[in-house]
Amino acid sequence: MSKAYEVQKIEIKLKEEDRLSLDRTSKTLCKLNNSLIDSLKNDFLKNGDIRTIKDYYTLLNKVDNFKLKNPEFDDVYYLLSRSVGFRVLDSVKKVPYGTRDININHKDWESDWYSLFYSKKNRGFSIENRVITFRISKTRSIKATLTEKIGHYDIINMRIDKQHYRYFAIFCHQVEIPKTILPKQVKRWIAIDQNHENFFTGIDNRGITYRFEKLKSETYFNLAIDEIVDKIKACTNSYRKARLYKALNRVTNKRAEQTFSALHSISKVIATNFDAVLIGNYVPSRDDLPYENLKKIMVDRTHIARFRSILEWDMKKRGKIFVLVDEKNTTSRCCICGNKEHKDPSIREFTCKKTGAKVIRDLNSCVNIARKGGAPIDNPIDIITKINQVYIYDYRISKVRRVT
Ligand SMILES: [Zn+2]
Repeated sequence: MSKAYEVQKIEIKLKEEDRLSLDRTSKTLCKLNNSLIDSLKNDFLKNGDIRTIKDYYTLLNKVDNFKLKNPEFDDVYYLLSRSVGFRVLDSVKKVPYGTRDININHKDWESDWYSLFYSKKNRGFSIENRVITFRISKTRSIKATLTEKIGHYDIINMRIDKQHYRYFAIFCHQVEIPKTILPKQVKRWIAIDQNHENFFTGIDNRGITYRFEKLKSETYFNLAIDEIVDKIKACTNSYRKARLYKALNRVTNKRAEQTFSALHSISKVIATNFDAVLIGNYVPSRDDLPYENLKKIMVDRTHIARFRSILEWDMKKRGKIFVLVDEKNTTSRCCICGNKEHKDPSIREFTCKKTGAKVIRDLNSCVNIARKGGAPIDNPIDIITKINQVYIYDYRISKVRRVT
């Protein structure tokens, strides 16, 4: 068994007064965050060496000092204020050695709600049935209702976030990946690599390569949502504002519906055409769960995990095979020569050092996933240089459609 992390995002329902308390806490954390950045910048001006602040304990000391001086900071639940230290450290770590300026910006609470991060297992929060209780200050805990059932996993950490006027609890679970291997008699299989550039990339038993494009319906609705949010921000008339909120709710629900039916259609097409699916599972370390761009990544991850579980169900109910493959090293290792090298995620194509062949990064992962799951691909050199078929989910006709 190997371990992997999965993310589950669940909307929570709160009392009005608790919503206000949450917003207040988030705002205080944001202030603490900005004070910490200011203090680091001051130190930097004095010492001129970023390395002196690359240490977590320096940051924790600073946080504690701020707490001593400011009762507002002091009242915040200690794990939450500490998490600010983690977040700032994360930004600091990205500043290269010898940099002449600390280019870390303040967080703007108005545009980016500061999430409440509970970094430790069962510390500061607890769950009973559909009720989650979490600490926000020395004396105050908040109870909220989870709108979805939580998976029976091992929760590693949890965060409370607000997006488009809704509140969410985002859980990071640890899951076990059982070692399933593709049985020899299965002929029609597809190996799938899910990634952020497109919806997924795939290779099948005949050596045909596939790309499934990102869900366009998502992009479309996201734009619409951003537009309404901008209007709400600029709106001063309360009657009009209430109408905009309603519209926002409608569009958000519509987006969820569209995504849901898209994921199901795509899964169905795969389950109909193949007898086995080999699919990679994310295995990020804790450090790989970054704080920057977290919201976007979380959304992508929940999508990815959701699609995987729909597909698993669709395969199993047809009596077909679903193989979850430990994704570790499937991206970094060249599937032709086995050479392992770190490649920046922005590089979508690389050259095999030994053979000089051009390799499409996602197809390379597919071959590695296939092999790891027990599907034979003896000579990948000819198949990993080109995508043969491209598909989209056409939300106007609610169907999967081939475009190339
Ligand atoms: Zn190579």
